[in-house]
Amino acid sequence: MDVSKAKQKLIEEFQSLQALRETARASRAPVELDQQSVGRLSRMDALQKQNMELATEHRRQMRVKAIEAAIKRIDNGDFGYCLICDEKIAPQRIEFDPAISCCISCSQ
Ligand SMILES: [Zn+2]
Repeated sequence: MDVSKAKQKLIEEFQSLQALRETARASRAPVELDQQSVGRLSRMDALQKQNMELATEHRRQMRVKAIEAAIKRIDNGDFGYCLICDEKIAPQRIEFDPAISCCISCSQ
């Protein structure tokens, strides 16, 4: 995969993640407001749902950070090299996930 293709893929994923985060944020607010007016069980449901959403949001946030870092590496010319040992990362690995930041041996 060439670098510009990788960058394009990263930007697309970045944008769809941001859109998902926006949607989740918009749907989160009313749940919080409703909690006082609903019963204990549905309140626990709502809390559980909220915890799950927070975990999802956390994962998305980590992913966004990884993508941002990968785009920065592309701009710096460091893309495709392991952050830990500085060896070249296998092309199949980058093709699978352009945001990957280390080689197979360092990721284990
Ligand atoms: Zn490495």
